Amino acid sequence: MDERKNFAVAIDGPSGAGKSTLARSVARELGAVYVDTGAIYRTVGYCAWRRGIDPGAAEEIRALLPEIQVTMDYDADGLQRMYLNGEDVTKEIRLPQISMYASRVSALPEVRAFLMDMQRDMARRYSVVMDGRDIGTVVLPQADVKIFLTASVEDRARRRWEELKERGTPKDFGELLEEIRQRDYNDAHRAASPLRAAEDAVYLDTTGNTFEKSRGQILEIIKERIGQ
Ligand code: C5P
Repeated sequence: MDERKNFAVAIDGPSGAGKSTLARSVARELGAVYVDTGAIYRTVGYCAWRRGIDPGAAEEIRALLPEIQVTMDYDADGLQRMYLNGEDVTKEIRLPQISMYASRVSALPEVRAFLMDMQRDMARRYSVVMDGRDIGTVVLPQADVKIFLTASVEDRARRRWEELKERGTPKDFGELLEEIRQRDYNDAHRAASPLRAAEDAVYLDTTGNTFEKSRGQILEIIKERIGQ
């Protein structure tokens, strides 16, 4: 068998654009590892929440970093599990209040630097489909394929609403809409690695699309570029 180089697909975009479900499905189809980088930031956000630290208190968050270890692995079903100092926090990081904590702590350059190596290391070791906010621009600027996935804010709030309802942690739609707007603003306006499309990213707006349609479009973009 010829030795094939690992490939990397970067999928960036705002909250609720369907990145994680689509990226996971596409990774499976391509035989690549799906890396959810939001989960990595959520682990730090969760740590701050659990310790009662204000996620905007930069000094306290910085002081937290040397004390914590964030690691990940994959279970038998290929699901990414997150660990905080060795404790499995995969479920806890999905608590609705952790979204805003993750968004706030991720604005700190020290937090981003702290989590950079583990993201790059995954791409060194495996072919990956990695989703986040700055994968194509900062984490993997050499990615073979870059996709910027977005949808209208209403569509994204509706998806998040359905997702939380399914998980058994429902939230008011209006509140979710406001939270997504706020997270969009935070993610796009922070000085450190703000959310933006890489110049060489393919822009894909999934507003009104079915999952299958978006999945097909993404696979087409990828296959065109890496000939999978
Ligand atoms: O993707 P998810 O909504 O789980 O991410 C939670 C938060 O983590 C985002 O709102 C964003 O602020 C932050 N994040 C980031 N960079 C990434 C992935 C997530 O800043 N690559």
